[in-house]
Amino acid sequence: MKRSILLGVLLGAGTLSMAAQQGPAGPKVVDILKLKDNLYVLTSSTPGNAATFSGGNVAVFITDGGVTLVDDKLAGWGQAVLDKVKSVTNKPITTIVNTHTHGDHTGNNGFFGASVEIVAQENTKTNMQKMDAFKGEGAKFLPGKTYKDKMSLGGGKDRIDLYYFGRGHTGGDTFVVFPALRILHTGDMFAWKDGPLCDRGNGGSCVDFPRTLQNAIAAVKNVDTVIPGHSPMQTPKDLQEYQRFTADMLSHATDAMKAGRSVDDAFASFKIDKYPGYKNERVKAAMQAVYDELKK
Ligand SMILES: [Zn+2]
Repeated sequence: MKRSILLGVLLGAGTLSMAAQQGPAGPKVVDILKLKDNLYVLTSSTPGNAATFSGGNVAVFITDGGVTLVDDKLAGWGQAVLDKVKSVTNKPITTIVNTHTHGDHTGNNGFFGASVEIVAQENTKTNMQKMDAFKGEGAKFLPGKTYKDKMSLGGGKDRIDLYYFGRGHTGGDTFVVFPALRILHTGDMFAWKDGPLCDRGNGGSCVDFPRTLQNAIAAVKNVDTVIPGHSPMQTPKDLQEYQRFTADMLSHATDAMKAGRSVDDAFASFKIDKYPGYKNERVKAAMQAVYDELKK
């Protein structure tokens, strides 16, 4: 009890500025989608509408020993997450996997408390240490368990496999596989059907992005459903298409740069209609990231 009051004070500043960004405060409600009897997804993850955008898709995996969350949304949405978890199980949340450092995936580590085991790839822990939310008193909500290339949690039907396949959205993105359920959570390595966001300040790379996705596709077999970072459920075919899209975009930008053409020019001549259902709202920024990276 005491801790949660203290936490409220600690997170107060961040929560206030978040509320200011999000406009008038309404009831925070996240949607829930059932994929399996023991796996749900907390959605409301599409950026754009500040009133309904709660952060990335959260996987809720109900095991014999308790509930594991993959990501935990934006600060201020912890109660809404907890309410939805309680609507499907009375087991306690025991583990949180942070797929990467960003606040829309790590925002409620503090809300769920230091008794929950928090797990992330080691570079993500390093990135999180630079965030205000995890400085000082907040440091106890950093991942207590990290890994480098691969790690499994639990066993049997409750096993979760965590993989790091290289740089992309950040320099520490985890792919989370639920082998018994044939489900993969990609975090923001497949956020949406649009240009990838490559956070170079946190080790991300739009140049390495397609190769990292290829590594994931080659290593992770036996999956039927893909939970993306910020859009509706996808299939492995969609992930393969996204890999081709990122590779295509990279080679297009690289060729244009070598030919001395501008980013605007590279963007204008990139044919998005080869990819049905894709948007090009973030393609130019991704191409700019390629230019910036190759220029060095
Ligand atoms: Zn992100």
